[in-house]
Amino acid sequence: MNQPSIHDMLASYDFKDLAVATVCSHSSLQLFHGAKHEGFRTIGIVVGEERKKVYNAFPRAKPDTFLTVDTYKEILDHTEELREQNAIVIPHGSFVEYLGADKFLTLDLPTFGNRNVLMWESDRMKEREWLEKAGLTMPAEIKDPRQIKKPVIVKYHGAKGGKGFFIAKTYEEFKRRIQKEKPYTIQEFVMGTRYYLHYFYSPIQKEGYQLSQGSLQLLSMDRRDETTIDEVQRLGSIAELEEIGIHPTFVVTGNIPIVMRESLLPKVFQMGESVIETSLNLFGGIIGSFCLETVVTEELEFKVFEISARIVAGTNPYINGSPYSEFIQPELSTGRRIAQEIKYAAAHNKLSEILS
Ligand code: AMP
Repeated sequence: MNQPSIHDMLASYDFKDLAVATVCSHSSLQLFHGAKHEGFRTIGIVVGEERKKVYNAFPRAKPDTFLTVDTYKEILDHTEELREQNAIVIPHGSFVEYLGADKFLTLDLPTFGNRNVLMWESDRMKEREWLEKAGLTMPAEIKDPRQIKKPVIVKYHGAKGGKGFFIAKTYEEFKRRIQKEKPYTIQEFVMGTRYYLHYFYSPIQKEGYQLSQGSLQLLSMDRRDETTIDEVQRLGSIAELEEIGIHPTFVVTGNIPIVMRESLLPKVFQMGESVIETSLNLFGGIIGSFCLETVVTEELEFKVFEISARIVAGTNPYINGSPYSEFIQPELSTGRRIAQEIKYAAAHNKLSEILS
């Protein structure tokens, strides 16, 4: 089945009575909270009845109504019901991952953002093509493991949350640890400090940092908390631990707020700008929130190791705004910014420019 046309999906919609829907997980509390702030009805899709209990614990963020399903795939059986409620879907990492990219692409519900981005984001080669075309520096890729001369990070394709990733300093170490049956990429391990930059691109509004079409905002940034790498030193040095067979892992467990030296901000905007301009040429453009995952080296250079093309969980510390969004508007979370974009588009008959 092909991706349904946005015009067909919106044909029956009452733009004055829209609802925002997402799966209860990841950043949904923030999304519901932001949507309520902007006057939308909210629908929470819960996978398993017991989840409701947790969401009911947060009266100011819980969705107005729940749609309960037993599995993610079952969401596909409820799209008509959701369309009858004028629901606009906001995707987040868990939604796309657990529903599956192929099913997400054919979901016949108006969805915030450009779904074409998935092809470019989920394939590591295409992602590199996009980011390098945009002039960003990515960590070097090592094609032949026998060429490992410096520390590398080995990433299994499609592994979410850094699961299974490992560091190797030599070819021997790589050979000992690699699971050959899974496709993988070997990247230079970049030494520096990590910053996960949260942007918002509006193709339809012009205030602020202007681009060839629309404008760009920097809403916040975070650093991920990853177990066990971020705390492993409490037990000993990584080298010591590896000798006794304990290897650090990169599983994301939380997010920490952070701000950056102000002198680096021009570069942050320049990177965001070129990623968007390149995406406009490649696939019609990224829309809304996206995140560049970076390491800043001691030369104060950014190396970008990944892009996430939707709201990231790293925005969750900022439901009341961040040290950056405060300079744009008080109490502006990414969730609220998304709701504002939908509201603006609905009022100006531009919904088809921000949904797919
Ligand atoms: P990813 O799935 O690509 O987001 O990577 C998971 C985690 O591994 C990141 O959050 C970083 O902590 C770490 N990481 C990824 N790529 C690199 C790299 N090239 N150099 C150093 N650390 C990295």
